[in-house]
Amino acid sequence: MTAKIIDGKAIAADLRARIAGEVARLKSAHGVTPGLAVVLVGADPASEVYVRSKSKALVEAGMAAFDHKLPETVGEADVLALIGKLNADPAVSGILVQLPLPSQIDSQKVIASIDPDKDVDGFHPVNVGRLSIGLPSLVPCTPYGSVMLAKTVQPSLAGVNAVVIGRSNIVGKPVAQLLLAENATVTICHSRTKDLAAVCRGADILIAAIGKPEFVRGDWIKPGAIVIDVGINRVAGEGGKSKIVGDVAYAEASRVAGAITPVPGGVGPMTIACLLLNTLRATCAQSNLPAPAI
Ligand code: NAD
Repeated sequence: MTAKIIDGKAIAADLRARIAGEVARLKSAHGVTPGLAVVLVGADPASEVYVRSKSKALVEAGMAAFDHKLPETVGEADVLALIGKLNADPAVSGILVQLPLPSQIDSQKVIASIDPDKDVDGFHPVNVGRLSIGLPSLVPCTPYGSVMLAKTVQPSLAGVNAVVIGRSNIVGKPVAQLLLAENATVTICHSRTKDLAAVCRGADILIAAIGKPEFVRGDWIKPGAIVIDVGINRVAGEGGKSKIVGDVAYAEASRVAGAITPVPGGVGPMTIACLLLNTLRATCAQSNLPAPAI
């Protein structure tokens, strides 16, 4: 068997085009332009690349991008003061603070200072709580995109056995909540899970969010399963160049799975598309307009 490749790049491009259409409609019908403020502290090259690609995607979708770059040595009070200003600015419908933050800044304190209605990353305790009790909320982008990709293969996840590897607040826990909301039977695995391979072999849907290159082997996968690989790992490639691989041994897994996301080109592009979607949703809610039909 050769797995169907879940083309995250194409699915994300289609979603972004639909979002751009909604943004244009919002502007012409209501004079409203969604705007996202991105706060970057320090000069971590990977974070800078992410922030640049987010800004580009926002502008392409017709949204406004407000970039705030702060020095590595900035104090917590200055970051909190900036968030306070952005909370009060009506042109800013969404606020994203690029993580990780330097050690002198308490990330949880910063996240908690964001207005939950502008928390497009879905990390504020209010949004985390709303997701866990089944209320509408802003949902973390990578988990949201991961579940969307699985649903392109199998639109109803009711009753399926879903196994999530990883329990981080950013990916593992929220993806498990979303799968539960889709009525899947969810197992969350982590570094202390016993016989992980055996648990994975029971998965109709396997979501890997570990951060270890090609950790999940082909013989861990149930024949025909849907495999969503969230991992982004830089490893040495041929000719001294580095390359990006996922948490799943792709070549082995694609011989057993029914469908699989590639890395790159799977979950990654969906993260940015879902950020745009969250920004659009936040804008509509703040303008007392109905949620976009996307
Ligand atoms: P994290 O380090 O916060 O969490 C990793 C999780 O994996 C932990 O819960 C840990 O218990 C689990 N784990 C570690 N070793 C394990 C083992 N041996 N067996 C079973 N479980 C184990 O990482 P994260 O922030 O959740 O990110 C996970 C991966 O997803 C990383 O590669 C990251 O780069 C990637 N990521 C991708 C996107 C995207 O847009 N595609 C977004 C966020 C994160």
